[in-house]
Amino acid sequence: MPLLPATGADSIMVTLPIYMDSHATTRLDPRVLDAMLPYLGEHFGNASSRTHPFGWKAAEAVDAARHQVAELIGARSSEIVFTSGATESNNLAIKGVIAAHDARPCHLVTVVTEHHAVLDPCQRVEAEQGCAVTRLGVDSDGLIDPNELTAAITPHTALVSVMAANNEIGVRQPIAAIAEAARARGVPVHTDAAQAVGRVPIDVGALGVDLASVSAHKMHGPKGVGALYVRRSRRAKLVPIIDGGGHEYGLRSGTLNVPGIVGFGKAAALASVEMDATVRQIARLRDRLWEQLRSRLHGVQLNGSRTHRLPHNLNVSFAHVDGQALLTALDDVAVSSGSACASATDEPSYVVQALGATRERARASVRFGLSRETTEAEVDYVADKVARVVMRLRDLSPLADESTDAGCDPAVEEWLTGG
Ligand SMILES: *Cc1c(COP(=O)(O)O)cnc(C)c1O
Repeated sequence: MPLLPATGADSIMVTLPIYMDSHATTRLDPRVLDAMLPYLGEHFGNASSRTHPFGWKAAEAVDAARHQVAELIGARSSEIVFTSGATESNNLAIKGVIAAHDARPCHLVTVVTEHHAVLDPCQRVEAEQGCAVTRLGVDSDGLIDPNELTAAITPHTALVSVMAANNEIGVRQPIAAIAEAARARGVPVHTDAAQAVGRVPIDVGALGVDLASVSAHKMHGPKGVGALYVRRSRRAKLVPIIDGGGHEYGLRSGTLNVPGIVGFGKAAALASVEMDATVRQIARLRDRLWEQLRSRLHGVQLNGSRTHRLPHNLNVSFAHVDGQALLTALDDVAVSSGSACASATDEPSYVVQALGATRERARASVRFGLSRETTEAEVDYVADKVARVVMRLRDLSPLADESTDAGCDPAVEEWLTGG
């Protein structure tokens, strides 16, 4: 890819296009690739083959990876079930618990801002197994109220599922308080931690959750591999959704994806060692991006809590700008509007709308996802490019006619005051 100078800079170079969509996926760390390669080549054995060294070698590598993943989240190796990713882990947790819950009526609690990989399994058990679903709303910061959760729990509640961190607005839910409230009433707790694990410290013991979904490709590991953490003590009853050879303690049959699992383990080990340093570095760059956007543009609003937030997430609405038009104009910057899964449709983000935002504000939202690979020069380039594109689009927009002074426009004013 060509090396082009960042605009206005004397000597700063960035490589275009710039990737700032790390909630969708992250680049495979070269050290992870190195760890995987032998298992795509000479060490091709089936980890379930017990009678020869090819199998032993694969099983040994899977054991080591299981330990690395467990260590990253404060679990034991025997509590890690490898899956094809967080989507499958969420399905196993939700459908598996509901299938094991014999009693009727049946009820589960989740949140309106969850990923579709949680919302859709909930909808299916509701439609097909008559399990009532309570979907908790969020406040203007994107947070649920643990008291509301407590009030929603009934004697029939089989599961509470609340995400650790949101994939669009980066908001981190108070999982420890949620888990405490649910478990006090004997209800198991699942958390979709795909966006949090490997990015911020997550300790399943401290959080008090029973089930947690993890994805390798959100933390510089390979795609198509993930895990479900299943607490051993007071283990939630779980029926598998994939039957077969009885792999993974009978919870997930199918020949193990050895190279993927080895890469997942390596990515977890790297995150364990490097997270403290990278969290601070990424948060500083994210704040720099926000300050630059705010100082150059009026009518910008942060979507989601400022403080209860992933360090690498920035989600901003730009008044009088259509998010899709902005993304199209940002031809050398990879960002997204809404989640990767929803960007194929025209519907404005349901997550941003859940904050109480208008459809217009949701439509005007852009998600920036930084990573440990993001550089200061990239942040400066992106801020400059976004600022210039937003100003140009506003010049073209009939809606923006009266908005050159933010104070003239009630909608913008409301945004500026955080209303
Ligand atoms: C990416 C993501 C998923 C899906 O993970 P896959 O491993 O790609 O299946 C689920 N939940 C959240 C919050 C995510 O960000």
